[in-house]
Amino acid sequence: MTVVSAPVIKTALPGPKAKAIIERDGKVVSPSYTRSYPFVMARGQGATVEDVDGNVFLDCAAGIAVNSTGHSHPDVVAAIVEQAQKFLHMSGTDFYYEPQVRLGEEMDALAPFSGPKRSFFANSGTEAVEAALKLARYHTKRYGVIAFLGSFHGRTLGSLSLTASKAIQRKGFGPPLGGVYHAPFANCYRCPVGQRPDDCDAACLSFIDDQILVHLVSPDEVAAVIVEPIQGEGGYVVPPAQFHQRLRELTTRHGMLFIADEVQSGMGRTGKMFAIEHFGVEPDVVTAAKGIASGMPLGVTTARSQIMAWPPGAHASTFGGNPVSCAASLATIRLLRDSLVANAEKVGAHFMQGLKDLQEKHTIIGDVRGKGLMLGIELVKDRKTKERAAKERDRLVDECFKRGLLVLGAGANALRLSPPLVLTKDEADTAVRIIDEALAVVGSAG
Ligand code: PLP
Repeated sequence: MTVVSAPVIKTALPGPKAKAIIERDGKVVSPSYTRSYPFVMARGQGATVEDVDGNVFLDCAAGIAVNSTGHSHPDVVAAIVEQAQKFLHMSGTDFYYEPQVRLGEEMDALAPFSGPKRSFFANSGTEAVEAALKLARYHTKRYGVIAFLGSFHGRTLGSLSLTASKAIQRKGFGPPLGGVYHAPFANCYRCPVGQRPDDCDAACLSFIDDQILVHLVSPDEVAAVIVEPIQGEGGYVVPPAQFHQRLRELTTRHGMLFIADEVQSGMGRTGKMFAIEHFGVEPDVVTAAKGIASGMPLGVTTARSQIMAWPPGAHASTFGGNPVSCAASLATIRLLRDSLVANAEKVGAHFMQGLKDLQEKHTIIGDVRGKGLMLGIELVKDRKTKERAAKERDRLVDECFKRGLLVLGAGANALRLSPPLVLTKDEADTAVRIIDEALAVVGSAG
């Protein structure tokens, strides 16, 4: 692909070739997918993507926070080709191969807690969560799990029972797994318990001790608390450090496992390898997927070795830890470690400042938040009432697309920016400029 500076929009959107593909898709592909706008990918490089009609876009969505090293990074492609030429599959469940072992060693070195660790390999985020859930039950011999309102942990039935983001994601699939209890998440822009973040000492967490563990389930029947260190799908919500610190104290006190679901927030996106590192606590189990292999399917569940002590046959997956995915992941981790985690921190701070400047100008922006290149802006109809500007958010996503910027929504009324971690400051400035123009069209520019 010849690199041209994004954006370059040459046709009406969608263009004729995109239109034809979307028409075919409409007949044969599951209608459950949530396509926000008609982007049909032809190729990509770095943070630039081209559609089938030759329109060039700046990508601040990265296939839902996946293409961590940018599209088709040459090192990742070379690692994939090299492994593919040797063998494509040999089921790490029944046989051994070195790339899976090496990735286990990398996770042992990188996972955000001390002591020896073991990893289970799957193909996706939801499977990584399923493994964590089963492991927690197996290890503690307890059945209960506490999750948070607004959380997203996946869509298979176990993880869906933990997910509490949008009702449509659960509608029609009940009843969910028993023994799952949801507590309010520390969304300080909209405090669920009417407190102020500076002196609340994460009062929202009292709901667990004072309500769930009193009225619903005995603490000695709860295996784990699962939490996204920064809520992703729920709106890119960053809790205060006390929230995770108190949660760590609570889980330790009751003998529950602390599972950090880092499927979206992990692998360098926030300017640290794992987002939980921002909060000064160590979980017992961590789940990773999305950015871990730059786009190749891979999910990993890493736990303290004394916890991941289940016997042969207890859990496995035919494709999990596919050798090509492992090779892509090893190349990805090398790039993250060498420069991209640092780039996420540096360019993320610059991008955040640009968004904060937009907040000064556009009254529709109620909140700007995030860490590194996991950035969200929440749109409101009125800054005082904080009435959610959901339609305006949808329109903003669309207006960005028309101007050559790919972004996604999160929650009811937030815009999420989850670009490849190779994003440059110039590209961040381009994104801010386009969002500015799009906001002017959406309205409420003050
Ligand atoms: N956990 C979190 C925090 C996620 O953001 C997601 C997906 O968005 C998942 C789990 C599920 O991952 P997957 O879609 O790969 O199954």
